[in-house]
Amino acid sequence: MEAMTPSSTRWAAIPKDVAALRVRPNLVDYDAERAAFSWEEARRALDGLPGRGLNIAHEAVDRHAAGPLADREALRFVRADGTTRSLTYRVLAREAARFANVLAALGVEPGERVYSLLGRTPELYAAVLGTLKHGAVFCPLFSAFGPEPVRQRLQIGSGRVLVTTRAFHRRKVAPIRDELPALRHVLLVDADGAPDPGTLDLAALLADASDTAPTAHTGPEDMALLHFTSGTTGRPKGAIHVHDAVTAHYATGRFALDLHPDDVYWCTADPGWVTGTSYGIIAPLVHGVTAIVDEEEMDAERWYRILEEQRVSVWYTAPTALRMLMKAGAERATGHDLSALRFVASVGEPLNPEVVVWGEEAFGLPVHDNWWQTETGGIMISNYPAMEIRPGSMGRPLPGIEAAVVARDETGAPVIGDDGHAVLCEADATGELALRPGWPSMFRGYLDEDERYRRCFAGGWYLTGDLARRDADGYFWFVGRGDDVIKSSGHLIGPFEVESCLMEHEAVAEAAAIGVPDPVAGEVVKAFVELKPGHEPSDALRLELIGFARKRLGAAVAPRLLDFAAALPKTRSGKILRRLLKARELGLPEGDTSTLEAGR
Ligand code: ATP
Ligand code: MG
Repeated sequence: MEAMTPSSTRWAAIPKDVAALRVRPNLVDYDAERAAFSWEEARRALDGLPGRGLNIAHEAVDRHAAGPLADREALRFVRADGTTRSLTYRVLAREAARFANVLAALGVEPGERVYSLLGRTPELYAAVLGTLKHGAVFCPLFSAFGPEPVRQRLQIGSGRVLVTTRAFHRRKVAPIRDELPALRHVLLVDADGAPDPGTLDLAALLADASDTAPTAHTGPEDMALLHFTSGTTGRPKGAIHVHDAVTAHYATGRFALDLHPDDVYWCTADPGWVTGTSYGIIAPLVHGVTAIVDEEEMDAERWYRILEEQRVSVWYTAPTALRMLMKAGAERATGHDLSALRFVASVGEPLNPEVVVWGEEAFGLPVHDNWWQTETGGIMISNYPAMEIRPGSMGRPLPGIEAAVVARDETGAPVIGDDGHAVLCEADATGELALRPGWPSMFRGYLDEDERYRRCFAGGWYLTGDLARRDADGYFWFVGRGDDVIKSSGHLIGPFEVESCLMEHEAVAEAAAIGVPDPVAGEVVKAFVELKPGHEPSDALRLELIGFARKRLGAAVAPRLLDFAAALPKTRSGKILRRLLKARELGLPEGDTSTLEAGR
């Protein structure tokens, strides 16, 4: 089946002048850096433990707390009123040690699972690091989950300890506690001396605990983190990560986020998801920078104020947030002093070329897309500060990462050659995005789903489930998730392509495209469009948008049908749930909606 050429190639490349950048990037010569790179070498930049031991908490805080960075701000929390409170590396290390001692006192064994169900409060960060220091496994839950997703995830991971608040406990945990025999301890961060029945007062336990603790002698292959996927394509999977992941967090923080020692860095992702843990906690701390944590929810004005007032230099965010800022208008940004900002990156969903370019207007900097997933544990493909950006492209693989596009047969299965190796696509042809296994942050399994894990590998590659093409220069272009791709009259149409085109229309704030059955074409494209303020749904606007897309994409690819939506259904991690739009459109069961954002 022939894939259509994405219109994104119509956007001019954004050249980079290294001499004009305010800070010399960590990665200037891509090819040379790739040739010289080895994971062994990257590991040497870390401290390590005696023997061949490795522990994420040691790399992230303890070694800084024992050195010249001890009094540097590690985490700076921004409260609702804009005031801040900070934890230095020294203090964070002490808090983590206290938490590790609490786990020891409770008899928690290495490898056992400690969960959190918390907002972005200091206790959460101390719990993550203290758990890792103790050698137990940390699993963050998104704080807005209801009782059912909480139950599901605690059960799959046999959670032994849960750290949460009184309100969350009452609403979300107490009703399901009977179904969780493995859950021995529920620790309340706000018990205030009077814990609820069946819970313990964490503050009291911490107050009694020593602020030094031994670091568990974990090895690189010991399990460290359990992260559930976003549930965009179905039931969320629990991906297992090991302590060696920190090697990748370090290397990707260096190359893809360009972290330098004096950076003030802000990752807007919630630590309930893999991005918020890997890049909101571990990567910045390993680099010894100051990480901003916003205690509130997203709001355009607030975000611009944080960028300005906290003098953020490196900003890592997501397309859904950037599109929301776009909706609020670029002039909102220009009213703020964003002169400290030098690098903006995005992840989580395809980044429309429109948004990349809009960044230049709003921040004076283009947005740098990068790609990865829960399973990869770290950034795999990225746009770098010193490298030309091709808007709409995810960029090129990190040093140490080999990526390819594997050919698929009619059923969507990878084509395996006679030699047992997967057959790779020619340049610009669409296939499944694949990675050569062996990088340190690669998941080591789906908890309790061995068969599902095994099915991810074929012909020498890890298959990502995403469709992409690679151009002749090695830039990768996202086409769509395997499940979301639309097959119309012999063409493969990626929803991203259609959505990005609609986004170019001045009335459109956000768009989603799905395939709906058609007796002639097999499927035709249907688009759902959320309008910017000041635009109202009408038949005339519907026709205009369809005409607009047709002119740019051609009749074969443009949506045949178009509906207006007040809000598109999204996961709580901000991803458009196309499968849900499709199920609703076709009157089918909605499937697993445990991560669906409320009211969508
Ligand atoms: P599930 O696996 O449960 O269906 P999910 O795949 O959305 O959920 P995550 O691991 O959080 O869960 O998200 C990773 C996916 O997000 C990628 O496989 C890809 O589909 C999408 N994604 C992430 N970054 C990008 C990007 N820069 N461009 C396009 N897609 C992206
Ligand atoms: Mg996935």
